Order: sequence, then C-alpha cells, then structure tokens
Amino acid sequence: MSMSQKESVACPSCSKMFDVTVWASLNSNMDPEAAEQLRTGRLFEAVCPHCGETFQLNYPILFHDMTQGVMVQYTASEDEDVIKRYLASFKEQQEMFSKLNMPIRRQYRIVARKPDLFEKAVIFNAGLDDRIVEIMKVFAVGQISDQLGDSMPDEVFYFREPNAEGFMLLTQTENGMEQIGHIPFSRAIYDWVKQGFKHEEDAGCFISTSWASWYLEKHQQDFAGE
Ligand SMILES: [Zn+2]
Repeated sequence: MSMSQKESVACPSCSKMFDVTVWASLNSNMDPEAAEQLRTGRLFEAVCPHCGETFQLNYPILFHDMTQGVMVQYTASEDEDVIKRYLASFKEQQEMFSKLNMPIRRQYRIVARKPDLFEKAVIFNAGLDDRIVEIMKVFAVGQISDQLGDSMPDEVFYFREPNAEGFMLLTQTENGMEQIGHIPFSRAIYDWVKQGFKHEEDAGCFISTSWASWYLEKHQQDFAGE
C-alpha cells in the first residue's frame, strides 16, 4: 500500500507557503513513477511555485519493493533513539505476525541517510540482493587498493545507468563528496559471492559496507580461492 498526503510548507527562499506531496509509504508497483523519482533522488525535491527555488524536503518514508519483497524504512534522522524506535516497532510487528502464524517473509531494512535509501531502491530495482552487493563492494575496493594507495574511498555506491553499472568511489573533500573512480559491476562475481553467501543467517535490518566487513571476517573461508 502507498500512503501520501499534501502538506503545506514554507519556501526557505521567499517564505511563501505552498503544497507538497509527502509519502508515508511508497509501493513500487502501485506508484512506479514516484518509485522512479525515489531511485533518481528527485522524490524529495520541491520547487516553489512563487519564486522557482528548488529545495530538499526531508521526512521518513517506508519504501516497499513488492517484486523483490523488501521494505526499506528511511528514518530521516541519524539520531540513535529514532533508529531504535523503528527497529523496535518492526520487531513488535514481527512477533505479532508470527504469533498469528503468519511470519513476515519480507526483508526489512533501516537506513538513516537519503543516499542509502536511493541506492537500496536502485539495487532492488536491478533485481539484486543488497547483502551480496555490499560484500562485493568490500572485494572490489580490496582488489584495487594498490592502485588507490592513500586515497581510499569514504563511500562506495552501486549505480546503474542504461549503459553502465558499477560502483562509484567517493571521497569526502572540503567541497563535499568527490568521485575518485569507479569499478565496473561483474555479474560473474555477483553469482560467485551469492553462491558462497549463507542465506540461512539472518542479516538483520542494517545492511551496509560495515555489515559486509563484519560478515566477511566471520565467513572468510566461504570465499577462499579468489
Ligand atoms: Zn519561494
């Protein structure tokens, strides 16, 4: 189910009020256009009809990719208490449904930053598993660490365009994030990581590169010989 409503906001530039659409939840099958906007990062963009200024809205949203059976909760806040509340409420629902003998089969993710939300939506739309993609990032950066030398990336994002698919390597500079390179995506490596991945293990709601590093430390032997 999708849920959206109109809310009145004040333009940060001219202070005049206007209406924007705010999504509490967004279902990729029911609202494919809005889902595409989310993947390209434009969903939170608002344009003031009075002065033409474009600015970013920020609000929590539950994104549901029906095809992949994954839900992503964006918290709109990096506050630990806020994040814990989302986790607790998911665990409550999980318990309630399993008591009713209807266990939740969908995977659930919690992200606190917009780029992570956009990236997850792109990953699922590509038919990929975010756990495998995060593990691939660790391998990919490891493989070119000699070339990178001291300029190790602060962030690695999966991207997909009509003619290109890969990992964008970004580093934090005084002027914001800067791209320092990219690594092409390899389907063969994806399949190989997927084969070695232990699906029976509940990976939890926080799937990130640090989760992947933690996983690989525990399961190094499953990926030997590469
Ligand atoms: Zn304005």
